[in-house]
Amino acid sequence: MIYLVFGPPGSGKGTLSSLLSKRLDCTHISVGDLLRNEVLKGSQVGKEIDKQLAAGQLVDERISNQLVLDTLKKTSGTVLLDGYPRTQSQAVFLQSHVSITGIIKISIAEETVIRRITQRRICPKDGSIYHLSFKPPKKEGMCDRCGGKLLQRPDDTPETIRKRFVTYYQETKPALTFLQSFSLPEIVVSGDYDLLEHVDVIVDQIRSWQRVVESQ
Ligand SMILES: [Zn+2]
Repeated sequence: MIYLVFGPPGSGKGTLSSLLSKRLDCTHISVGDLLRNEVLKGSQVGKEIDKQLAAGQLVDERISNQLVLDTLKKTSGTVLLDGYPRTQSQAVFLQSHVSITGIIKISIAEETVIRRITQRRICPKDGSIYHLSFKPPKKEGMCDRCGGKLLQRPDDTPETIRKRFVTYYQETKPALTFLQSFSLPEIVVSGDYDLLEHVDVIVDQIRSWQRVVESQ
């Protein structure tokens, strides 16, 4: 079963997906992480991705489509796919290759994201993401997983966020609209408040979808 997690940049998609994956005992696939891992590996593809990310662009579709499909093929059980599809053509690609079970959509205002983004910290070693208010590290400035020093992403600035919101509405919204035309089950979550408050509701909803799918 594949659930897609949609939301503007900085809406908490990663945090929500990782919480849900623990509660539902399923696999969280962050396409951002897949791409970053490729960069860390230093492969030819990774170097291309690095160049595109540094320029604030979306990564070449052929690259992300193949990475996502390969990863989905290797993964069994329920999957939460976060950060993909980002464009309508990716949505068409995904929809033609796999069966999508449902959509979880986070809705949030741009200014809320900008106010929050300054509190995000990442671990450059393993890609763990923290939030000083919602998901603080156990020890200040240090990664819980590996003890590495946490950093602020250089692109976590208001200018970059505004640019990404424009991209989200121009490119990702049509992907969502395309998928919604198939009348997939969908949950809309408000990202304006603490996403943790919604986890129980979403978990219940997904379990009920799973029961429907399993009974078919
Ligand atoms: Zn770490």
